[in-house]
Amino acid sequence: MHEFALAQSLISAILPKVPAGARVARINLSIGVLAGIAVSSLEFGLEVASKGTPAEKAELSVKTVPLSCLCRDCGKEYSVNLGGSRANESDAYRCPHCRAGLGEIFSGREMTIDSIEIEENNSLL
Ligand SMILES: [Zn+2]
Repeated sequence: MHEFALAQSLISAILPKVPAGARVARINLSIGVLAGIAVSSLEFGLEVASKGTPAEKAELSVKTVPLSCLCRDCGKEYSVNLGGSRANESDAYRCPHCRAGLGEIFSGREMTIDSIEIEENNSLL
């Protein structure tokens, strides 16, 4: 279950950014459609990995990053609409401009931390 390992590395990336006495209110992530991450598993992993840390009970907000390619033939960028209405799945990967095959993928496989929202404990009083 690689989501658990991911959750642990997320927590260890986040914790050094949290000032003493504050807690993490929200974690904003971008996850590529091809990253192969199940958000529900990641949420569960985070819940476990953040226990007893200032990131415990932080809300997770996930933005999906579409798959973007650079065509090797015509040099244009395009995004692939997975799960679209196209009849043929492999057709979805073609360059819409010149119909060349799958270009160079430059986004859609990554997971990045966009931002974390910090909450000072005493702001709640
Ligand atoms: Zn092309």
